[in-house]
Amino acid sequence: MKIKNLYKIKKPVISFEIFPPNEKYPIESVYETIDELAKLKPDFISVTYGAGGTIRGRTVEIASRIKKVYGIEPLSHLTCFGAKNNEIEDILKKLKKNNVENILALRGDFPKDNSEIKGDFKYASKLIEKIKKEKEFCVGAAFYPEGHQETNDLLDLFYLKEKVKEGADFLISQIFFDNNYFYDFKNKCDKLGINIPLIPGIIPVTNAKQINKITELCGSTIPPKFQKILTRYENNPEALKEAGIAYAVEQIIDLLSSGVPGIHIYTMNKVDVVTEIMRRIKYVKEHLQEVN
Ligand code: FAD
Repeated sequence: MKIKNLYKIKKPVISFEIFPPNEKYPIESVYETIDELAKLKPDFISVTYGAGGTIRGRTVEIASRIKKVYGIEPLSHLTCFGAKNNEIEDILKKLKKNNVENILALRGDFPKDNSEIKGDFKYASKLIEKIKKEKEFCVGAAFYPEGHQETNDLLDLFYLKEKVKEGADFLISQIFFDNNYFYDFKNKCDKLGINIPLIPGIIPVTNAKQINKITELCGSTIPPKFQKILTRYENNPEALKEAGIAYAVEQIIDLLSSGVPGIHIYTMNKVDVVTEIMRRIKYVKEHLQEVN
């Protein structure tokens, strides 16, 4: 099923993001993760597209298996930075052949060494335009409640509108730790006439190392309330895990109570953490599904 239709028939839609294992590990290692995540009955599972090399091929393989073996809708991420037109066409063919009809169209990050890589697509909007020529795909795109690091907030909104104009069917957010960023951004989108589903992406932070990497990569603000928790428990993994789960649950319940169409959980392939979150939001989710 096309994910845009899921958002029409169900509220809230609960989805998970997973990543393919590094090439040092067999692909089967992620199937054990999916076995467990499938028991939580997510409405769809997205699979990230790695920074390069053989790991990229794994995204299509894993997405195809999610559909075929688990009967869960996959959302296959695809980045276009440095990609040639024919490479993208090959991937679209493979996805089609495996009945994967949902793609998260992204530009991808620049290489860390800033090296020039020539590709046929400069921005995600160009990839969306390309994919949408093939009528069978439903396409999601990314948005940034705190703005994107490379552009100012106003321009970023303008370019987001371009992605919607090219045919994006729904939008998934970059992580944030203060829900007000999401609500403010949603208000701006409403004013601009961006009226496709805006889905908050939530990450449970359960270890201290993770947080430095996250803030370095995407620049999300750590509110003082959360910083206090991170500092207090950074040397106590069990306490930090408990507090990180509680923080994510609080964010999720606030978002659900405010009527968001769905929640996308960046699982980091941590089954126990996601299982606990789902346990803690069970009645809120069921209540909302009954009344909506
Ligand atoms: P774009 O929408 O192309 O925007 C990139 C920048 O260019 C922005 O600053 C934008 O304002 C600007 N811009 C856009 N159009 C124009 C224009 N016409 N002229 C000038 N400037 C313009 N990365 C991966 O490598 N693999 C993944 O699987 C992955 N999954 C992600 C999932 C989500 C939900 C999110 C939020 C991000 C993900 N990323 C992933 C990271 C993403 O690739 C980076 O954030 C990247 O820097 C931007 O991607 P984008 O698709 O938003 O780019």
